[in-house]
Amino acid sequence: MSIFETLSNEVTGFLGLGAVIKLFQTGDYSSLKTIDGVFSVMRPIIPLLLVIEILRTLFTRKFKKGQYLMPFLIYVFNDVTGKFISFGMVALCIGWFSKYALIHTYFIWYWIVYGYIVWEFAHFIYHFLGHKVRLFWCLHSTHHAPEHMNLFVSHAHFFLEAPYADIIRTSICILLGVDPPVLFFIMFIDGFWGSFIHVGEHLIKNARLGFLNNLILTPSHHRVHHAKNPLYMDTNFCNLLNIWDRIFKTYQPEEEGIEIEYGISREINNDNFFDVYFGEFYGLFRDIAKAPGIKNKFLYIFMPPGWSHTGEHKTAKVVRSKFIEENLKY
Ligand SMILES: [Zn+2]
Ligand SMILES: [Zn+2]
Repeated sequence: MSIFETLSNEVTGFLGLGAVIKLFQTGDYSSLKTIDGVFSVMRPIIPLLLVIEILRTLFTRKFKKGQYLMPFLIYVFNDVTGKFISFGMVALCIGWFSKYALIHTYFIWYWIVYGYIVWEFAHFIYHFLGHKVRLFWCLHSTHHAPEHMNLFVSHAHFFLEAPYADIIRTSICILLGVDPPVLFFIMFIDGFWGSFIHVGEHLIKNARLGFLNNLILTPSHHRVHHAKNPLYMDTNFCNLLNIWDRIFKTYQPEEEGIEIEYGISREINNDNFFDVYFGEFYGLFRDIAKAPGIKNKFLYIFMPPGWSHTGEHKTAKVVRSKFIEENLKY
C-alpha cells in the first residue's frame, strides 16, 4: 500500500467517513432504515465538528498548536499500540458473565431505559474509581492533563484505560441483565455524547444548553469535571444521565463567578508526552519507594491521589471541603 493510500485510509478512518462514502458510491440508502445504518452516518459528526472547531480557531486567529498537539499525539500513539494489542474485553466479559445475569431483558424501550440507568451506574463506578484509587488515576489522568478543552481531548486516554473501563462497565451491565444488543446500542449513544461533551469554548461558549442543563449532563458539567478549581474537583462523574451524581452527591453545576481552570493539580509539563502519559506512574513509584513499611506502600497504590502516609492529605475531598468551608457558607 502506498503512503498516500495509508494516509487517506487513516484520515477516512478517523473521520468515520467509510460508511457515508459507500452510501454515496452505491446509491443504496436502504441501510438507513437500520439502527446500524443510522449510527454509521452519525459517526462523522464529532470528527467533523472537531475540524470545524480547528478551522474556526484558524480563521479567528485563536489557533494554538499546543492545545491540539498533545491530544493528537496521544491519539496517534493509541492508534498504533491499539493495532498491535487488540482487546476484546467487552466480548470476553459478555461471554464470562452472561450465565450469571440476575434477570433477562431484551431490546424494547423500557429495557433500554433500564439498561441506560445501569450503564450510567457502571460508568459512575469506573470513573469514580479512576479518580479515587491512585493506580487507576494513573490510567485516567492522561485524559485530565490538557489545559484547554476541545473535541480532541475525548481522544486523549492512556491506552490501557479502555480495557479497564470495559471490564467494569460490561461486567456490571451483563450481571444486572442488560441485553448485549441493548448494551451495544447504549455504548454507541454514550460514545457519541461522551465525545460531544468535550466541545470547546471556541465552538460553544456557554455549554449549559439551556434547560437541558437541569435534565442531563451537558458539556458545561463535563468542563467542571475537567477543572482543577477546588470547588470543581472530583465532581460530575456521569456521562449523559447524571442521576448517580445527584444520588451520590458529586453533582456540581458551573458557577457564574468561578472560571474553569482545566488540568490536574500537580506540576506537569504539558508539552512533554512522557509527563502527560506516564507522569502519574512516575509519581506513584516515587511515593511507594519513599514510603516506610509494606502497609504504607500498598496504601499509596489504593488510596486516593493526594493521600500521604504522614497524615497531611491533599486529596480532592480535603481540598474541596476546605474551600467550601472557607468560601461558601451554605
Ligand atoms: Zn475523569
Ligand atoms: Zn473528559
